[in-house]
Amino acid sequence: MRILLAEDDPVIADGIGRALRKGGYAVDHVADGAEADTALASQPYDLLILDLGLPRLPGIEVLKRLRGRKSALPVLILTAQDGVDDRVRGLDAGADDYLTKPFALPELEARARALTRRGTGQARCIEVGRLSYDQADKVVKISGQVVDLSAREIGLLEVFLLRVGRLVSKDQLVDHLCGWGEEVSSNAIEVYVHRLRKKLEDSGVRIVTVRGLGYCLENPDAAAAAKG
Ligand code: CA
Repeated sequence: MRILLAEDDPVIADGIGRALRKGGYAVDHVADGAEADTALASQPYDLLILDLGLPRLPGIEVLKRLRGRKSALPVLILTAQDGVDDRVRGLDAGADDYLTKPFALPELEARARALTRRGTGQARCIEVGRLSYDQADKVVKISGQVVDLSAREIGLLEVFLLRVGRLVSKDQLVDHLCGWGEEVSSNAIEVYVHRLRKKLEDSGVRIVTVRGLGYCLENPDAAAAAKG
């Protein structure tokens, strides 16, 4: 799940970014409305968190342009304490929810979860072999038992589960795990994959190394069933 965060206050942006990344989301941060507009027009996102008071292009304008492109992307707007008019204009312009500053980070996370779940219909439960993954709640289970995975490991697994049986390059994994400006090395990916393999040992699915190219998540049970 990838979130675009448009917020010009560096302290607020840092706090939100950190909380969401810890929750397993990839977060791209932009500090003005024009950049937000460009990012939204060029990349798919699962949620936009939009401060209405942005330089260069007001948040409300970013929202209007987004809806003008017929995008159904869930949008959570951030407004000032006394911004009743802003809130009304934001909701009228197609925002799905709002938070008034200052807000508690757990509340923002809860709203983000709810919106991505409602979402664009992309969030769903994926099942491969004995493994199941709830994309909205970010819960992984093997034969119904919850598996303890880190946010990074879940992020990685999500990429594989959306491409079962297909090659996933290391670059794709790095790209998915990093918000802009956050470094994840190719070596780190190897470590995460190694850990993930161990934790998925009982699931019936395997992450196979494709030498020099990347990885592939296979479901041997399904392959056997198809053959026999
Ligand atoms: Ca602002």
